[in-house]
Amino acid sequence: MPTASLGIDDEDRYAGFRLISWWDQQSLADAKVVVAGAGALGNEVLKNLALLGVGHVFVVDSGLIEASNLGRSPLFRRRHCGRSKAEVAAIQMRDMNPDVEVIACAGDVIGDVGLGVFHAADLVIACLDNREARLWVNRQCWKTKTPWIDGGIQEISGVVKVFVPPESACYECAMTEVDYRLINLRYSCPLLRERDLQLGKVPTTPTIAAIVGGWQTQEALKLIHNMPVITGQAMVYNGEANRFYKTRFERREGCLSHEVWSDPIAVPVSAEHDDADALFQSVDRCVSGGPVDRLVLDRDLVLSVGCARCGVQIPVLRSRQRVDLRSARCSRCGEPMVPEMTHCIKRGTPRSSERLSALGIPAYDIVRMAIADREIPVLLAGDEQTVWPSSSGND
Ligand SMILES: [Zn+2]
Ligand SMILES: [Zn+2]
Repeated sequence: MPTASLGIDDEDRYAGFRLISWWDQQSLADAKVVVAGAGALGNEVLKNLALLGVGHVFVVDSGLIEASNLGRSPLFRRRHCGRSKAEVAAIQMRDMNPDVEVIACAGDVIGDVGLGVFHAADLVIACLDNREARLWVNRQCWKTKTPWIDGGIQEISGVVKVFVPPESACYECAMTEVDYRLINLRYSCPLLRERDLQLGKVPTTPTIAAIVGGWQTQEALKLIHNMPVITGQAMVYNGEANRFYKTRFERREGCLSHEVWSDPIAVPVSAEHDDADALFQSVDRCVSGGPVDRLVLDRDLVLSVGCARCGVQIPVLRSRQRVDLRSARCSRCGEPMVPEMTHCIKRGTPRSSERLSALGIPAYDIVRMAIADREIPVLLAGDEQTVWPSSSGND
């Protein structure tokens, strides 16, 4: 047992950690970590981050707490049922450790988290339940060169994967034809996502969530301390046989995830408050060779949906992930609606007077602005205070 002669301060909640020779509590206090998913795994990871005193945590989850979550979610209580998982997790973490600043996003990691959040983060911990969201996180992390740690659990077994862009093999490098097919199956018709019918059906226990969530957090600790980590491999734990093995991924040249973006220029524009025209003007003031002529969207924007049989066309203006189920099928004949989509907003068109959020751009996103054949990454820094309140150092 440690004694007073080892310098233990009973009032210091981190005293036990400081005895570890390589431990640097200040690095943890300075760290910014994004946690995608606040289910069973996310609960374990978030609890660990709070205990460790990780200074800045951004948690995103679109789900609401249900009684069936309570068996494997140590942060949730029965009184929380019906409330946002991300928001309740944040409240519980602040209660566990007031040193930790937690930002909750009760939204979807694909539709509602701007690329600037990934760019500002030291690392991302994914506690997700589907391939589509993992693939999205992988691509966002590669664009911004942000390390990420994937975790998965089923019954009493689990897997952890650490990816450090741009050199390591990535999540997509290891994807098979079957994986791609399963992602596309989620869109059984152009807009109708089957996702909501399948969510949360993987059987798991709080024990494996604790093991894998602990393991993911421990890899995060190593990354924060610049210690060596095993990257581009699946580290698999079989809980029934107590077997552990690793599978190395082959880095696939031509993999679509390997695009790395240059550092963005920051403009004082907000996705929530400003329109595309304001963005065009703001970027013109920062770059030479302009004017900027178009905004390239990373999320398909549905402009309208139509039914050929009934001859109806209904305006929508929403990103594909946000199209609700009612718009996906014709209200008259029940056939799948055919969407008209775009991923480009040209300057001077009626759509460039729309608010950026109406074009499916989330707060603090990094958007691509194009001049002729050149594309410039632009950070919507006007949203910084709503997303990472302490980013500008005036907390
Ligand atoms: Zn790859
Ligand atoms: Zn119809």
